[in-house]
Parts: sequence; structure tokens; C-alpha cells
Amino acid sequence: MSTAAPAIGVLACASCSAAHLEAPNGRCPSCGSGDLAPIAVEGTGRVASATTVRLAPPGVAVPYVIAYADFEPGARLLGRCDSPLRIGDTVTLVPADDPVERFRFIPEEARP
Ligand SMILES: [Zn+2]
Repeated sequence: MSTAAPAIGVLACASCSAAHLEAPNGRCPSCGSGDLAPIAVEGTGRVASATTVRLAPPGVAVPYVIAYADFEPGARLLGRCDSPLRIGDTVTLVPADDPVERFRFIPEEARP
């Protein structure tokens, strides 16, 4: 398995600094600004918050972890992780099998 981190294309908002995978109607989903620019995020990020999901719709395996992590050059991404995470942990982007999900986080210490 390759451990190279993929580059994830996101739209960075110049008004509120949020980064989103998609921007319906060309507007920032966080603040409504139209001042968005595409940037590529890759490599490792730092976990800003994380929680364990223990209840999910039928067919979704639990538990799993969802977390916000901050990546250079300034994007906070929401991603899923199969391992427990704590604030401040380092995570790496890895491609997800699900094209809707696009990527997952893996803890730095869990990298092969
Ligand atoms: Zn914004």
C-alpha cells in the first residue's frame, strides 16, 4: 500500500478562512462569502477536535471517529478515522475507497 498522501482540492474562503470540499452556488457554506479560491491540501495535519460516533443508521459500522484537522496552507478538514484520536494528534490524509468520502485520516503513529 502506498503511504503517499494525496492532494485534496478544497475551496478556501478569504473572508472566514474556512475550507470546504464543495461550495453550493459558489458561496462559502460557513459565511456566505463568494471570495473562494481553490487550494490543494496534502500531507499531515493536526487534530483540532475529535469525537467517537457510537450510533449510526442501519448498515453503518460503529464505532468510528470523526475529527477536524488543520492542514497547510490553512484548511480545516472534517474526516473519518478508524482509530481513536486526541486533540493535537498528527494525522495523514489517505485516499478513501468511497468516492463520496474521498479521504480519511490515519494517525501518524499508525502509518505503515
Ligand atoms: Zn467563509
